Amino acid sequence: MSLLIKDLHARVKDGQEILRGLTLEIEQGRVHAVMGPNGSGKSTLSKVIAGHPDYEITSGDILMDGKSILAMEADERSRAGLFLAFQYPVEIPGVSNANFIRAALQARLKSGEELEATEYYADLYQEMDALQISRTFTARSVNEGFSGGEKKRNEVLQMKMLNPAYAILDETDSGLDIDALKIVADGVNSQLGPKLGVLLITHYQRLLDYIRPDVVHVLLGGRIVRTAGPELALELESKGYDWIREELAEPVPA
Ligand code: ADP
Ligand code: MG
Repeated sequence: MSLLIKDLHARVKDGQEILRGLTLEIEQGRVHAVMGPNGSGKSTLSKVIAGHPDYEITSGDILMDGKSILAMEADERSRAGLFLAFQYPVEIPGVSNANFIRAALQARLKSGEELEATEYYADLYQEMDALQISRTFTARSVNEGFSGGEKKRNEVLQMKMLNPAYAILDETDSGLDIDALKIVADGVNSQLGPKLGVLLITHYQRLLDYIRPDVVHVLLGGRIVRTAGPELALELESKGYDWIREELAEPVPA
């Protein structure tokens, strides 16, 4: 079972092409890290996979377990097992955190089935405690007034509660101090297993000290230009990206 991104070309609606023939396969049970400089298309990739309406796919395909998801709306993709932790989590005033996650879980049940409230809160509190999120956050509006670190932990809380088959984590490490980074990494690590494929988008090798990737990819100019083991992340940390740019046969658009 895998999430396969196949020769994908995508652009901002009526705008510039950002993904230029991107191919990547994320298998369940494995962690794929994607690294790349600012503006290389990492967040665009994550949003295109999730079905963000700002972007248009001009060619290529995205297959979940062999089936194209391109015709599916974002909520259908979510119910099918896809999860995206945003680089910049959205604030949703007026919707409490507990009701938000509850509605997402309820939407996964067959019609007529009702989520069991006592069980739901027991699970929620357990995950919140593990992520060191105060229980007062159940009543607060989603992300509203949360600090950067609280937002990132809240994204991981959603992932843990929704139990996806494929999770895309877009710079979930950014803006975290070392203690928060460890909490987030523990949260992700505790979810890893044969039923979860992870696309870990990061700028820094630091996160990969805590969440060990099986594979590291470099995204440059809207394409995956290099794939190797975890040692590649260390090399990027010390050498930057220019050496890869120089080794490419085709120049990478800025
Ligand atoms: P990364 O996450 O790797 O830093 P992004 O995917 O956010 O890169 O952005 C890649 C390029 O696409 C950037 O030049 C960015 O300005 C542009 N871009 C992304 N989304 C939009 C959008 N909605 N409208 C206009 N330009 C966009
Ligand atoms: Mg980004």
